[in-house]
Amino acid sequence: MVDLVASTEDWTLCYVGLGSNLATELGSPIQHLQQALTSLAANLQIRELSASSFYVSVPMGPKDQPDFVNAVAGFETTLKPLELLSFCQQLEQAARRARLRHWGERSLDVDILLYGQEQIMTPELTVPHAGLIERNFVLLPLRELAPKLTIAGKPISYYELSSDWTGLKLLSADQ
Ligand code: ADP
Ligand code: MG
Repeated sequence: MVDLVASTEDWTLCYVGLGSNLATELGSPIQHLQQALTSLAANLQIRELSASSFYVSVPMGPKDQPDFVNAVAGFETTLKPLELLSFCQQLEQAARRARLRHWGERSLDVDILLYGQEQIMTPELTVPHAGLIERNFVLLPLRELAPKLTIAGKPISYYELSSDWTGLKLLSADQ
């Protein structure tokens, strides 16, 4: 008998980082993040989606740009790494991402932080994300979602100890 149950489907636990500091005709940075989360939740190859709080961070690059709104989302997916990257890029395009300069303002940035335990180093994709352990606006929301996570064999708390928390705060209701 043919097995109609999708028992061979492989669901992998992933984390993506979301960031925005540019309003467009489609909405504010907060709305860009909310829309991206809605689209992730609507993808049939994604389940068990959870999102961190939203945080406000000072820009890493040029300082003459608005603060960023950042969050991390965790989910299980049957998308392969490059398929997930392509979906992340579709989300960016949907937010009409225009990139004005390196590390400059953007309406939406969606980066793959972790894809299961996989280590990927190709021209298109580096996983774990190259900036993961040194960016407070990634580490803090990630810890909020997954306090027991290990990265490269070490607990996430290990990386927090060396993190600089300046310039990062929880988004408050009036922002
Ligand atoms: P950044 O996120 O560094 O500001 P971009 O979002 O413009 O830059 O991404 C530039 C390229 O980085 C993408 O085209 C993608 O191929 C590559 N890239 C490498 N690793 C990752 C990753 N883990 N997540 C997302 N993009 C990645
Ligand atoms: Mg990116």
